[in-house]
Amino acid sequence: MYRRLNAHTGRWDLVVVGGGATGVGVAIDAAARGYEVLLVEQSDFGKGTSSRSTKLVHGGVRYLEQGNIPLVMEALKERGLLLRNAPHLVRDLGFVVPNYDWWEAPFYGLGLKLYNLLAGKYGFGTSRILSREETLERLPTIETVGLRGGVIYYDGQFDDSRLLIHMAETACEQGATLLNYAGVVDLTRDGDGFVDGVRVRDIETAGEFEARAKVVVNATGAFSDGLRRLASPDARPMIAPSQGIHLVFPREFLPGDSAIMVPHTSDGRVMFAIPWHGHALVGTTDTPVDVAVLEPVAMEREIEFVLSTASLYLARKPRREDVLSVFAGIRPLARAGDANNTAALSRDHTIQIDPSGLLTICGGKWTTYRRMAEDCVNQAATLGSLPERDCVTHHLNIHGFHPAASKFGPLSVYGSDAPAVEDLTRLEPTLARPLHPSLPYIEAQVVFAARREMARTVEDVLARRTRALFLDARAAIEMAPRVAGLLASELGRSEEWAHSQREAFEAVARHYVLSA
Ligand SMILES: Cc1cc2nc3c(=O)[nH]c(=O)nc-3n(C[C@H](O)[C@H](O)[C@H](O)COP(=O)(O)OP(=O)(O)OC[C@H]3O[C@@H](n4cnc5c(N)ncnc54)[C@H](O)[C@@H]3O)c2cc1C
Repeated sequence: MYRRLNAHTGRWDLVVVGGGATGVGVAIDAAARGYEVLLVEQSDFGKGTSSRSTKLVHGGVRYLEQGNIPLVMEALKERGLLLRNAPHLVRDLGFVVPNYDWWEAPFYGLGLKLYNLLAGKYGFGTSRILSREETLERLPTIETVGLRGGVIYYDGQFDDSRLLIHMAETACEQGATLLNYAGVVDLTRDGDGFVDGVRVRDIETAGEFEARAKVVVNATGAFSDGLRRLASPDARPMIAPSQGIHLVFPREFLPGDSAIMVPHTSDGRVMFAIPWHGHALVGTTDTPVDVAVLEPVAMEREIEFVLSTASLYLARKPRREDVLSVFAGIRPLARAGDANNTAALSRDHTIQIDPSGLLTICGGKWTTYRRMAEDCVNQAATLGSLPERDCVTHHLNIHGFHPAASKFGPLSVYGSDAPAVEDLTRLEPTLARPLHPSLPYIEAQVVFAARREMARTVEDVLARRTRALFLDARAAIEMAPRVAGLLASELGRSEEWAHSQREAFEAVARHYVLSA
């Protein structure tokens, strides 16, 4: 990537700041249209919100309830496109709404029929009302006291940071230049005072460089206002950050193939319990916060809320000591008049062009990243007087596309890259060694992450190339020394580097461990 950067002369058409779903989506879209694109991410791809989602590719049943039909329809269409373009990372999943009151089956049955209808030709599966027995068959651990039955509907599920890494590779294949550990520290201006580029710090070397652009796209999610203030110190905030947490449990808490959807928690939100990578993922919350931080920490009251809500629906009540990992993320919601109730804020995306010419895109959700990127690049092309070119991402396969990736077993998330990971173990059989008895990861995945997926740190490998930290934080801490050793030899680093990497990882991972 640095070779590409250095070979580039003149102005970029677009410089994109931020390597989450939004920024990488924009890089793919713009590069696929033939524009010259540079993307810079201050940390690792997905270090922000994009690795911390509920892992749903969904229309959003909740937005249906709010009457936001266009948003639901758009998201359902994107859900269908994503399944088609990245079948190795997206799958359909049955969600059961358990019913304990007589009115719930007809009420949710009807609503979810509408959800089906709105998906049209992008539909996943037909929703229907389940008897009590059928509900128990699908959710063997559901609370049985007072259970009358359920309603099943289908939505999509994915691995967020793996998709992001594959998207970054797609952008590279389309000709974009993407750098992680390269943060924008300032914006540059032309003679008329318009933003015409960025000043970037290489986090590894502390060296700085400037990159000039026809358009600078601010895709920094919850950090958007910080960059906007670099352009105009008095810019009015447009983000109302809101935190959401998830707890991860052993699979025994949710052994069936279906997820649970709770349409109304005591605070009026939706909550999910989802089978994910051999574990049960439960969340989320919606807590307004004052400032966004890169490594948010779950609050005690959020943890208690998720535990107590899960206890209402699970026969075996989960306790703190059952939690394998707890992770928090910050929603980059576009601000409305009253930002105190962020659950009611729009999940729709916002594109804003400041008087300085800085283009900011924020809000939306993972599911709609492609559509957000399409809108953003359309606006950027006008703003930067770029030659008009149509969006081509509707049917653009994501890197690793494989229609039957499940045949690769634990390596299925690599899609068509899986044979290359397996080849490493054939060349060097020791690389087939598991990294930990509790998780399905092998040493070859560390080597592959360093050689092919731009992993630079132990955390990159354990949090976002594999999902160890999110699945079992204690196991991830135990894996860190081995991963540090493998990475050090791949990246030509010293033993001291490996040692400091272990310490740095432990400091982060401690927040994912829930003490009893
Ligand atoms: C708890 C929770 C659950 C969610 N669940 C779902 C779900 O199930 N399905 C769904 O569709 N959506 C979901 N979402 C929403 C979705 O995750 C977000 O909309 C999406 O990830 C936002 O991506 P982003 O790229 O805008 O932001 P981010 O992923 O945060 O990316 C912004 C990036 O900008 C970088 N950056 C900041 N400043 C600079 C700088 N100066 N220089 C360079 N880089 C910089 C940051 O490091 C960061 O990586 C959820 C969100 C939350 C919080």
